[in-house]
Amino acid sequence: MLAAKFVSRSSFRHSWTRFASTAAAAAAAAATTPAASYKLVVIGGGAGGLAVSSTLARALGKNEVAVIEPSPVHYQQPLFTFVGGGLKDFSETHRPTADVVSPDARLIQQAAAEIDPEASTVTLADGSKVAYDFLVVATGIELNFAGIKGLEDAIGKDGVASNYSPKYVQNTYDFLQNTTKGNALFTMPATPIKCAGAPQKIAYLADEIFREKGVRSNVAINYYTGLGKIFAVDKYASAMNAVAKDRDVNVNLFHDLVEVDGPAKKATFKLLGDGPRAGESITVPYDFLHVTPPMKPLDFIKNSPIANAAGYVDVNQFTLQHNKYSNIYSLGDCSSLPTSKTAAAAAAQSQVLKHNLLNQIRGSDVPAAEYNGYTSCPLVTGKHKLVLAEFSGYTGTPQETFFFNQAKEHAFSYWLTADVLPAVYWNSMLKGTWAGPAPIRKLTNPTNIN
Ligand SMILES: Cc1cc2nc3c(=O)[nH]c(=O)nc-3n(C[C@H](O)[C@H](O)[C@H](O)COP(=O)(O)OP(=O)(O)OC[C@H]3O[C@@H](n4cnc5c(N)ncnc54)[C@H](O)[C@@H]3O)c2cc1C
Repeated sequence: MLAAKFVSRSSFRHSWTRFASTAAAAAAAAATTPAASYKLVVIGGGAGGLAVSSTLARALGKNEVAVIEPSPVHYQQPLFTFVGGGLKDFSETHRPTADVVSPDARLIQQAAAEIDPEASTVTLADGSKVAYDFLVVATGIELNFAGIKGLEDAIGKDGVASNYSPKYVQNTYDFLQNTTKGNALFTMPATPIKCAGAPQKIAYLADEIFREKGVRSNVAINYYTGLGKIFAVDKYASAMNAVAKDRDVNVNLFHDLVEVDGPAKKATFKLLGDGPRAGESITVPYDFLHVTPPMKPLDFIKNSPIANAAGYVDVNQFTLQHNKYSNIYSLGDCSSLPTSKTAAAAAAQSQVLKHNLLNQIRGSDVPAAEYNGYTSCPLVTGKHKLVLAEFSGYTGTPQETFFFNQAKEHAFSYWLTADVLPAVYWNSMLKGTWAGPAPIRKLTNPTNIN
């Protein structure tokens, strides 16, 4: 018995040693030998990554393009505002990633963990490597709920919600329905975020919900922003100040949310700016709290040689080509492009990126395309009302698609955003055939009269 035990232990040890050395050799091999090599690797299968990879996969041929994307589900994030306001069903916001990646591309369902631009390889979460000739980085921006003390414990219950996460977006409408009195707070952080209009859109939808339920006079709506303006571009800032006044939404500038006390239902803000009370904190009780979390670049990008000092992929703001590594491009929320981070911006950027990247791949000397900073923020202000901000984030100049003044609330703008653009997103942008309204604008507002 003892001998048998000894034999089995010894053979276990022997086979474990063999397994361990084989595993170590495999890991070492995985760490040094690329598992696969592609003409183009796209990191991130979100709005920007798919707009690029779908076209490039068609142009370069089957399996020449790989898309690295860990999430099994793709979200059309602009729809989250409508879900939070009870105007769309959550089921409309998502589709399986495998269904939206081009059939000509290879989907690698893992996270990228490291980029080595000298070796032209990407290391995946499991330690294996993928080699590329050209790389597009489109990994978006990270939500940092942990950046606000107490928020992770408080969110998802007792009136605390966020349209920014698929996990909490359905709480927004539920909690708004249950709010009948007291204080409803809506926050916007001081960090760069995606869709800088979304934190206030939901305040106007809440106003409408409270009015419809007949409880508006019992609920105070307070919008707190860490920034010094309600919107970056003056034309739309004036419009939104007027909307806020009309809806009796109190706007508090330079108030940055720093702490949420869930059990006590209190939110603490730090006062920013250079006013007399800058640096002080104030604590406000809430009955409903919609939080837009601070956001930050992804750590693996920030810690890589392709990032700028702020942690974003360091690309030329016009050509979208990396400032140091000529075979790397980036677009969307993870890029250093100094414009407002939206899917509309990523669509316009995708056109420029594809043009310049294909030129480079084909060795063509066609002049480079240049991105002009176009971005758009559809500011929903009610069930059939919307201010359709379109502008260059580089110059702050409006670039409106239509001949009417888009800073005015319009039912047409609402219909376009709520009913037309979601279909354009699924059927055209993700397939690489929609790059924004620039061609339409030549017909509908040729002289940019606004
Ligand atoms: C509430 C809300 C409302 C919005 N409203 C609007 C609007 O009205 N109009 C508008 O134009 N935009 C709007 N946006 C913004 C818009 O959704 C984003 O700006 C857009 O999706 C950016 O595209 P992207 O490709 O850069 O990033 P994303 O679409 O976020 O895609 C990034 C992808 O990278 C993947 N990824 C992350 N880490 C890794 C990794 N390590 N390896 C590989 N892949 C990784 C992610 O899973 C994700 O699929 C809104 C966003 C929100 C949240």
